[in-house]
Amino acid sequence: MDLNSLRSPLAFLQSRLPEIPHRDILKSEEAWWKNEGVAISDAIDRAGTPWLRMFDRLGKRVDEILYPLEYQTILKRGYRAGVVWRALEEKSLIPTYLLMYAISYYDPGICCPYTVSLGTAVPLAKYGSAELQARFLPQLLRKDDSLWQGATWMTEIKGGSDLGAAVETIARPAGDRWLLTGEKYFTSNAGAELAVVAARPEGIAPGVRGLTLFLVPRYREDGALNYFVRRLKDKIATRSVPTGEVELKESEGYLLGSAESGIYLILEVLNLSRVANSVVSVAVAQRAMADALSYAQQRAAFGKPILNHPLLRHQFETRLNALRSAFALAWESVQLLNDVWMERAPYSDRYHLFRLVAHLAKYWTAEFAVDTAKWAMEVHGGLGVLAEYGVERWQREAMILAIWEGTSHRQILDGLEVMERKRAHELLFRRLAEIAPSKELQEMESEVEQHLKLPTEERETLAELLFRRLAIFTAETLARKSK
Ligand SMILES: Cc1cc2nc3c(=O)[nH]c(=O)nc-3n(C[C@H](O)[C@H](O)[C@H](O)COP(=O)(O)OP(=O)(O)OC[C@H]3O[C@@H](n4cnc5c(N)ncnc54)[C@H](O)[C@@H]3O)c2cc1C
Repeated sequence: MDLNSLRSPLAFLQSRLPEIPHRDILKSEEAWWKNEGVAISDAIDRAGTPWLRMFDRLGKRVDEILYPLEYQTILKRGYRAGVVWRALEEKSLIPTYLLMYAISYYDPGICCPYTVSLGTAVPLAKYGSAELQARFLPQLLRKDDSLWQGATWMTEIKGGSDLGAAVETIARPAGDRWLLTGEKYFTSNAGAELAVVAARPEGIAPGVRGLTLFLVPRYREDGALNYFVRRLKDKIATRSVPTGEVELKESEGYLLGSAESGIYLILEVLNLSRVANSVVSVAVAQRAMADALSYAQQRAAFGKPILNHPLLRHQFETRLNALRSAFALAWESVQLLNDVWMERAPYSDRYHLFRLVAHLAKYWTAEFAVDTAKWAMEVHGGLGVLAEYGVERWQREAMILAIWEGTSHRQILDGLEVMERKRAHELLFRRLAEIAPSKELQEMESEVEQHLKLPTEERETLAELLFRRLAIFTAETLARKSK
């Protein structure tokens, strides 16, 4: 088996996809990252994390996020290449997620600002009033370095899994806008010019249905700060990205959609980022394998390179197959999202199918990335745990991918729900029927049906085993139809 496609994100994409739009752009991004970006990214991961200047010299609150200059170089490159603007201009998410794959092979963290900027631009383009769009959308889609960034802030101190119970930020109507007061506990891309923020309109009963999505600019209309950054967090990975805590104090916000439909908008934003997470997870796994490969070719033990020992060679080959399957699952979620991203509630069956595939993909690709990164460290032996050689970074990055955008538990339980309530597994099996061997398909179908008949408590207790089986089955089946 030829392992060489591991060494380049574009080569791997070419080995899996029949066509790649804007191949020339991916090629030049890859060349730039190899020659310049990698060194910048490594330096930032080690010693270049952003920091917060809260006050200016006269004591005025400014909450300025300061970065190494080179951070802007790697960040702005992806925006210029079209990671956000192409989605809306070309009305397709394919170029966006292809770019994210290529870039995150070199720096997974940098895809966080891209994802949250996309997660701001899309709901604004879909649900913002004409006036709001005219005022804010062009800045998010600029093709030069003056562009604005977005952010997506839902999580509060009481937790991110159960947003219905945990979001305590209140929104009060005030003429043509709303005033938001509350605290957001995990705010990636803090300092962004615009954020979409989950809040509860005053007087609305608790629960997930009462949540609403607002567009919150960094500055108020009179030019004063509109939200405050209390601190930045010291994280194990995505270290180039400022993730902070944000205070909203009567902050000006603009309603997106209607107050009643807020939860759908919030979930649509999450869909964009869960799919991004899946794509990035596969790229991280590929990168960890590539680093392991180059080491295994050079390191000798028992008279030959360790790669040439049958056990390790076999591990590389089976893991490359698993990587291809994980990619097929992630890419299925991209293609389905690309079909349904402009839908509004009530959604089509295809949308429910997408939701199931997205939960499977977010869950399985992140688990696979964590496991692959651990394995890549093992291939390096003792050197694997040394910070100076960098392979341990993929383990740190992969751990974050498994937690944010909803942990693996959340994906399993939400995936179960869409099967119970929308029968999404039937749509999935219909889609897989052309490719899967019929006996295996029947067995999988009956396993899912048996599981859904279990009493509630048992259904949840045993859900992980079923979900893992379904994810791997779907991934392996889809991989058969790839080139
Ligand atoms: C680096 C980083 C950046 C982030 N950036 C952002 C951001 O920009 N915007 C934003 O909104 N959020 C952000 N988050 C927050 C992230 O989305 C949450 O951490 C995540 O959703 C989980 O929420 P939590 O940490 O509050 O865990 P909790 O919700 O408190 O959950 C704790 C544990 O309990 C498990 N659990 C919960 N319910 C169940 C259940 N029913 N059954 C079984 N297990 C359960 C969870 O899976 C988890 O393992 C970020 C997080 C990180 C790490």
